[in-house]
Amino acid sequence: MARYTGAVCRLCRRGGEKLFLKGSRCFTPKCGVEKRPKPPGQPPRGRRQKISDRGLQLREKQKARHSYGILERQFRKIFAQAGRQTGITGENLLVLLERRLDNVVYRLGFADSRSQARQLVRHGHIMLNGHKTNIPSCLVKEGDTISWRQESTKAEYYIQLTQTIEAKTVLNWLSLDKKTLVGQILSLPTPEETEATFDGKTIVEYYSR
Ligand code: SF4
Repeated sequence: MARYTGAVCRLCRRGGEKLFLKGSRCFTPKCGVEKRPKPPGQPPRGRRQKISDRGLQLREKQKARHSYGILERQFRKIFAQAGRQTGITGENLLVLLERRLDNVVYRLGFADSRSQARQLVRHGHIMLNGHKTNIPSCLVKEGDTISWRQESTKAEYYIQLTQTIEAKTVLNWLSLDKKTLVGQILSLPTPEETEATFDGKTIVEYYSR
């Protein structure tokens, strides 16, 4: 599956906002936004131009896309799916993004970032309802369980995780047994529970033109 392979800190610096794409590093002074708050590349010559409405909409869409590590084509598909559902498209979009398996693995505290969570899924360490799955974009539903493959519980990563997971908390729509590292979807998240840092309505406006 295609994915962005460039320097992720540039994505934060371009939008002028932390997207927390690098796990624990994002909370240290080494963070790219902290060290170099200006956008990457040459500064514009002359007077700085005011960003247009279209530019703001694009920035919001990019923020959502980069936060979840999704390429444009796949993001458009998710947006189209949100539009086909009943209810408000912008809110449906937030919930669909949050229901992705890689995001849930991240939300359960199994990984420090969504990209690391995606790697855990791709490498077959994660089981969904007792079955090995390596599809990060798979959508979870209410009642689903997320656990570790038996072989993976012998890995150094898993052993370290069992020692650090105690300090982590999970969102209200999830539950986690910190002894067995089995997570469950208690209910689908509401738009508010997604803790999105971007506005779904603005993304709808972007795609509506
Ligand atoms: Fe963004 Fe994290 Fe890099 Fe900071 S360290 S710029 S928050 S990815």
